[in-house]
Amino acid sequence: MALTPFEIAKKQIDIAAEKIGLDLNLAKYLKRVERALIVTIPVRMDDGSIEIFEGYRVHHSTVRGPGKGGIRYSPEVNLDEVKALATWMTWKCSLLGLPLGGAKGGVCVDPRKLSKNELERLTRRYTSEIINIIGPDIDIPAPDVNTNAQVMAWIMDTYSMNKGRSIPGVVTGKPIEIGGSVGREPATGMGLFFVLEALCEKLSIDLKSQNIVIQGSGNVGGTIAGLLYNEGCKVMAISDISGALYFSEGLEINKLLEWTQQGKYLKDYKDKRYKLITNEELLALECDILIPAALENQITYKNADNIKCKIILEGANGPVTPEADRILFEKGIRVLPDILANAGGVCVSYFEYVQDIRAYFWELDRINKELKKIILRAFEEVYMLSKERKISLRTAAYIIAVSRIARAIELRGIFP
Ligand code: NAD
Repeated sequence: MALTPFEIAKKQIDIAAEKIGLDLNLAKYLKRVERALIVTIPVRMDDGSIEIFEGYRVHHSTVRGPGKGGIRYSPEVNLDEVKALATWMTWKCSLLGLPLGGAKGGVCVDPRKLSKNELERLTRRYTSEIINIIGPDIDIPAPDVNTNAQVMAWIMDTYSMNKGRSIPGVVTGKPIEIGGSVGREPATGMGLFFVLEALCEKLSIDLKSQNIVIQGSGNVGGTIAGLLYNEGCKVMAISDISGALYFSEGLEINKLLEWTQQGKYLKDYKDKRYKLITNEELLALECDILIPAALENQITYKNADNIKCKIILEGANGPVTPEADRILFEKGIRVLPDILANAGGVCVSYFEYVQDIRAYFWELDRINKELKKIILRAFEEVYMLSKERKISLRTAAYIIAVSRIARAIELRGIFP
């Protein structure tokens, strides 16, 4: 039986705990979330009927600071998944040395089936339901799958209206006009690019001559695709939920992104040179760099043997399961793990939060410079540890991240 995302998250803690000889009581504590709220969200639909949706907000650990993590709208969202995503946020913030904890939220809904007004009512009611456990000092949400700057603006407004004053620091990933940060939208893709470039340098690989395959063409997949395309790399395949387009000589990514940004599906894009394949076929393509940037559990023990690349750059959270990780490690495939590779988003979210609190805004140049400095410092630590101990980059990243949380718990002690 395949493991659920939270079972995977717990397994990853066990692997790190064993390597660092972590106190079993601490490991037991880290495998629990601090709090999980399940809420019912009634929404009056445009036709007058009422639909009921279920939403979640989970704090995994706030031991090093307020919770931080996105909100996902998807028909597949469930509590187990949100718990796993919150746990991964704890490690991500810890690995980057940010004074933030791990949190995540989600609503079980297919937002494509809702009108804009229905989506706004859903978002505002969800915000009201979780209002007591979010806030600039408690937990700061951000965008994730199927949520965007507009959704963050509604959350910020609902929170502010309830508190009686404008509180931009309650969410990140907001529009710039209401306290958002320049550089936040492409930040996850930028971070991916920086760590990929750094790994290629370590391995003496010329990035420009690599053949690249990308699963997902949303914020993360689309941004990294654009950055690599502009760098002159050959992106051979890219997908969305409708399927994947493949062309061995390289896709015209700029045109495809214009298409997807209009809300259109890749399967409907017309170019005789391009072949429409499935997301499963895309993952098995022979390439140099594979970038899963859609959802978790995409590379499992079932398809890990079919993966034919040198480097996997994890744009999504949790796209590779622990069993698959072991198979890939044995095959000599380097996996740049999610908690490092896609941490650019939370890093610039942290900058946005700091800017909101100080009411002083930075220029793009400063954002990108500081992002690069922080993510490359984490990369260097992870890479050196993996080399020293001959372990995967993921295990090295977990050792560093989990050790920092364990140390914070030891220093603070267990209340009371
Ligand atoms: P998005 O909604 O902008 O894009 C998601 C992409 O995945 C779309 O192309 C969509 O069509 C595709 N997709 C959705 N369901 C799919 C399915 N069942 N099969 C194949 N493709 C599917 O979301 P995003 O913000 O780009 O997030 C993608 C991943 O990156 C998620 O795992 C998210 O948690 C992670 N992530 C996002 C950020 C961020 O800043 N947005 C930061 C870190 C990690």
